[in-house]
Amino acid sequence: MALAQENQTRKVAPSSCFEALHADLPLSRETACALIRCSDHDLPDLLCAAREAKERFKPGVITYSRKVFVPLTNLCRDYCGYCIFRRDPGAPGAHTMTPDEVLQVCRAGEKLGCTEALFSLGDKPELIFPEMRETLRRLGYSSTLQYLEGMCELVLRETTLLPHPNPGLLSAEWIVRLAAVSPSMGLMLETTNASLLVPGAAHDNAPDKVPAKRLRTIEEAGRQNVPFTTGLLIGIGETVEDRVDTLLAIRELHCRYGHIQEVIVQNFRVKPTIPMRDWPEPSRGEMLRTLAVARLLMPEVNIQAPPNLSAPYYDDLLDAGINDWGGISPLTPDFINPEKPWPHLDQLRLRTEAKGFSLRQRLPVYPEFVPAVTARQGLLAEKTKAAAELLGSARETGTA
Ligand code: SF4
Repeated sequence: MALAQENQTRKVAPSSCFEALHADLPLSRETACALIRCSDHDLPDLLCAAREAKERFKPGVITYSRKVFVPLTNLCRDYCGYCIFRRDPGAPGAHTMTPDEVLQVCRAGEKLGCTEALFSLGDKPELIFPEMRETLRRLGYSSTLQYLEGMCELVLRETTLLPHPNPGLLSAEWIVRLAAVSPSMGLMLETTNASLLVPGAAHDNAPDKVPAKRLRTIEEAGRQNVPFTTGLLIGIGETVEDRVDTLLAIRELHCRYGHIQEVIVQNFRVKPTIPMRDWPEPSRGEMLRTLAVARLLMPEVNIQAPPNLSAPYYDDLLDAGINDWGGISPLTPDFINPEKPWPHLDQLRLRTEAKGFSLRQRLPVYPEFVPAVTARQGLLAEKTKAAAELLGSARETGTA
């Protein structure tokens, strides 16, 4: 939306909202809805409050996870209107990685100091594609989740990387199984607006994007005390109030279970071949307002935004109170947004430092959640402890 048009629809936040920023953290829904629509005139005050809240939470530091991206399969039973990653079997680029390919990319990442293997994959493709059932049968597995579990276990056993799977909806049983082979996992809530499932909307052919089902997975992870990454996708047809409600839903689950290790605010980027190719992208102002409100709604939760989706001015996002850049790979492209390369780590460090912060590498599981993982028995605990120690010594020698 053009800035002038945006301002016409934006309400001025009453001055009591800004007073509430200091007295009333975390924010109420009413205050959050007013602030997310604040005028350009009031925006600097909102950003200042968000940055102050971030500094009270984690002063002076911005973190990132050095990762390899493992696109285990890009076959998917959903057809999200903004997705450029998914393929049908036989389409150009359709691919399910073999175990050798998984190990190859993880070993190359090890040499570059990576500590995370981010498994991204389509949701349950075998339910609609016989070709995927056949691929899995040849690999010796009967479901994509079973194959994912096997590959997480392989990476854990054979490399120093820690798996972080993003496999879509999960049952209670599958959360238990995957938590045995990965210290953390993730599922983007995206939005609580169920009306995006209607024909012509972003999720009209995406059975796994029903908000209630996604909330159920996130809640189940909470019951099982699994460090969990989730977040919003903004600009896919939701209102700004929906963004507040989505943040509130995440906050509520975190208040109950304390397991949300990170909230990502991701902005929709248009691509020429997607069904939503004519949709407007959210403006920089919308992104800053959403991030700042996220920080103020959850002052003590890690808030992340991917720098490549806001390039070249990604360092502005630091003004909105984020404390993490997410996974950055020195090796593999962002397969979800392949046209938006990650910044070089040296550049990221320079731009972060120019804003007054130091950049620090973290594991896929955030430091405050590591003790719960290493307190368990077995390979996962051992490997997580070893990775934390490796990162600690790399930090001492100035290489992390
Ligand atoms: S966004 Fe995820 S669930 Fe949706 S089509 Fe792409 S791979 Fe499938």
